[in-house]
Amino acid sequence: MFWQQEIETLDRPALDALQLKRLRETVGKLERVPFYRGKFLENGIKPEEIKSMADLRRLPFTTAEDLRANYPDGMLAVSREEVLRLHTSSGTTGKPKALFFSRRDVDTAAELIARAFCMTGVTRRDVFQNMMSYGLFTGGLVMHYGAEKMGCLVIPAGPGTSERQLLLMQDFGTTVIHVTPSYAFYFADFLEKKGVDPRKDLSLRKAFVGAEPYTEETRNKIEAALGIEVYNSYGLTEMNGPGVAFECEGKCGLHLWEDNFVLEIINPATGEPLSEGKTGELVLTSINREAMPLLRYRTRDLSSVISGPCACGRTHRRIHRITGRSDDMLIVRGVNIFPQQIERVLMSIPQIGRNYVIQLEGLDEMTVKVELSPAGFDGQVGHLEQLQNLVAEKLRAELWIRPHVDLVACGSLPVSEGKAKRVIDKRTL
Ligand code: ADP
Ligand code: ZN
Repeated sequence: MFWQQEIETLDRPALDALQLKRLRETVGKLERVPFYRGKFLENGIKPEEIKSMADLRRLPFTTAEDLRANYPDGMLAVSREEVLRLHTSSGTTGKPKALFFSRRDVDTAAELIARAFCMTGVTRRDVFQNMMSYGLFTGGLVMHYGAEKMGCLVIPAGPGTSERQLLLMQDFGTTVIHVTPSYAFYFADFLEKKGVDPRKDLSLRKAFVGAEPYTEETRNKIEAALGIEVYNSYGLTEMNGPGVAFECEGKCGLHLWEDNFVLEIINPATGEPLSEGKTGELVLTSINREAMPLLRYRTRDLSSVISGPCACGRTHRRIHRITGRSDDMLIVRGVNIFPQQIERVLMSIPQIGRNYVIQLEGLDEMTVKVELSPAGFDGQVGHLEQLQNLVAEKLRAELWIRPHVDLVACGSLPVSEGKAKRVIDKRTL
């Protein structure tokens, strides 16, 4: 099922031509933004000289720091009268990154979400419960508008309490939800404790899960716990919020809407492009935004391009699920470690539960604190020690260093309503 079949299945030459046309328009428009005008002057770039997609590389990168430095509205490419909505990133430190939407931007963002809903088999008969936070965070409103455009019944539940979520699901027959992976787990545990079997007692069938990185193992666990299909949903405030890239029913990578975003994968250290299939930093240029387009935005998210056609018929290229942020990397005793590696190991062990934190302390001590699964411990201390050793050994095989492992009772680690905080770094290095 398609929302905009023609554009979603545009052949490569036509998609390339559309990208170039929109890139040129965008660059022309950005001459009005002092930040970009300065960069163009500095690098001797004349917008009319952008003649092919290869010229993209001549354009400057934009970073999160640039957005902060130009806060609140220094990057705006239209007048203040033309903007309709403001969103900011959920970043917790320093000034937020602000993104403006024009009327058309609000509408385009909704179109991209509607494409995603159709692509995963959601129809107008579905009942969509948006469990993401409403407000400045894009996961609420942007998804909401897309679901309305698609035409399903939308329940703007927000993150609220689990009791309330359950009540809404029961009373209105919710079939599709939008959640973070950590909240999906938390909710599954909640249902288990309440004695609610989602397969029998609820109508849930699908979930859009995103806003933070998670592994394939985590997807499988959420699907099994809730008896639903989980689709990965990727986006960032700087590029509209959710709806940048989404999985289709094939669940084999996320189609990135290339009529709206130009995709590059670069080596984060050198800024050089990487060959197709290599993992690096995702760099995005928004070519269909009115209020605040960005050139070559350094997302810091790590991914790779999956080449070859997709069985669903969409021509927009797919990216691999995000494996972390380039600034997520931990260096522990000289070893480079990504939190996702740890998650992958933990989620593959059946006795291990769903919530974990990585604590770094002292000079360079790493402790992985992880919950047991509800049925993971039979009360015998010897078994607990064995399991602890098994987890530590599996982590050593993956990471090359052996962390301390602390097994804790199911439900004893804090759960965040928004994005989970997985790493606590208190090192005194
Ligand atoms: P912040 O940068 O403050 O977290 P956003 O709310 O804009 O603000 O979050 C966007 C970021 O969230 C992305 O850059 C990415 O790191 C992460 N993210 C969003 N969706 C996914 C996803 N499906 N998989 C992995 N990471 C995701
Ligand atoms: Zn597909």
